[in-house]
Amino acid sequence: MDGKFLDNDIEKVVDADRAHVWHHLIQHAPWTGDDPKADPRIIVEGKGMRVWDQKGKEHLDAVSGGVWTVNVGYGRERIANAVRDQLIKLPYFAGSTGSIPGALFSEKLISKMPGMSRVYYTNSGSEANEKAFKMVRQIAHKRYGGKKYKILYRDRDYHGSTLAAMSAGGQDERNAQYGPFAPGFVRVPHCMEYRAQWDLSGEEYGVAAANAIEEVILAEGPETIGALCLEPVTAGGGVITPPEGYWPRVQEICRKYDILLHIDEVVCGVGRTGTWFGYQHYGVEPDFVTMAKGVASGYAAIACCVTNERVFEMFRDDSTDPMNYFRDISTFGGCTAGPAAALENMAIIEEEDLLGNTIKMGDYMLDQLHALADKHEVIGNVRGKGLFLGAELVTDRASKEPVDEKMAAAVVGDCMAQGVVIGMTNRSIPGFNNTLCYSPALIVTKDDVDEIISATSNALTKVFG
Ligand code: PLP
Repeated sequence: MDGKFLDNDIEKVVDADRAHVWHHLIQHAPWTGDDPKADPRIIVEGKGMRVWDQKGKEHLDAVSGGVWTVNVGYGRERIANAVRDQLIKLPYFAGSTGSIPGALFSEKLISKMPGMSRVYYTNSGSEANEKAFKMVRQIAHKRYGGKKYKILYRDRDYHGSTLAAMSAGGQDERNAQYGPFAPGFVRVPHCMEYRAQWDLSGEEYGVAAANAIEEVILAEGPETIGALCLEPVTAGGGVITPPEGYWPRVQEICRKYDILLHIDEVVCGVGRTGTWFGYQHYGVEPDFVTMAKGVASGYAAIACCVTNERVFEMFRDDSTDPMNYFRDISTFGGCTAGPAAALENMAIIEEEDLLGNTIKMGDYMLDQLHALADKHEVIGNVRGKGLFLGAELVTDRASKEPVDEKMAAAVVGDCMAQGVVIGMTNRSIPGFNNTLCYSPALIVTKDDVDEIISATSNALTKVFG
């Protein structure tokens, strides 16, 4: 790093942060105490896989900006230049009109999503999901006399922080204290073979889990269910990969009862699992796909709610009805900097074959995590897809009792002290904040993976012996 920021009076920055910034997802109490180690951490600069904090300490980032976002890594000048050029040319005009990067990125994105056709721009993953929910509700009114309005969501899945998105939230610890939630959202069981809900395995397990969704549909009345919203691989709920058999059966059930399939790709989208989108591993044909984090790798705020033409057509099938169109707006949704950054982001992934690297390095990292599990009894299960991996920690492999979350946090903290940032499931499922999470940028090398695994091994030895 060039040390530019460290030459400034960084202590003043820390004081300003301590006094005025309300950080996300963290308890601030320690920062007002006397413990100097409890300073807020400020990340000052990044390059490739590495970031530097206010003390000049280097960290290898194994979670792509903390929340699986910076897919192409830090310091990409060509993205910054594209954003700069676009901002000078035109920073903003409302989304009821078009923009050059908005049109070009839509075309490029759709070229990676056979069967899909329309891109609705928003600012965040939560908002993208809310747009899909609103479309489902409007379709219910337009087509089904308001009856087919319910939205199914899964236990353990997360779809965002706004109140309607939380109404579709399957993580009880995250939802606690924020209710009451919006009506019309109905929970269905998850599909997690490691914590078997059914005495089955592999494909049979997948089919049973999908059938459990059908049971809820029948109990509620299929004529009341508008959509099913799922993460392809569950992220914050524990990095949960579905077994064979699950997705085809889910699709079959949706078609049988005329239920729209909404896939939340906010984490999996744009390369994270080694395909452009997570659902593409499973041969599914969704009606809605929402995405955010990796769309522009965090270089600009952009999220999208993508639909197929069938959904889009439902909003223009009667142009004489003044209430027929999707009466929604998002002031900054589709701001020109977002799609300009997203176009470059996608070009980088293509030109550097980062999907190929994700498959190759993901397989290598999964093998290394399995080898780690051979050494450390506390790892009960390793799972993931591409560069989206998790290691679940248990006190005993037979009972699968989760370790206390403080122990998992101690592992994360020790890695941080060694200069490697890893993540964990955090304040999501009561009693199950016990999965270590890995989602390095798609540029990760074998040496980086070795460093991440070695830090985790040291930390596990230190914390669990
Ligand atoms: N959906 C999933 C699967 C997520 O993991 C997240 C955020 O972590 C969201 C939606 C919400 O995205 P945002 O924080 O951009 O609103």
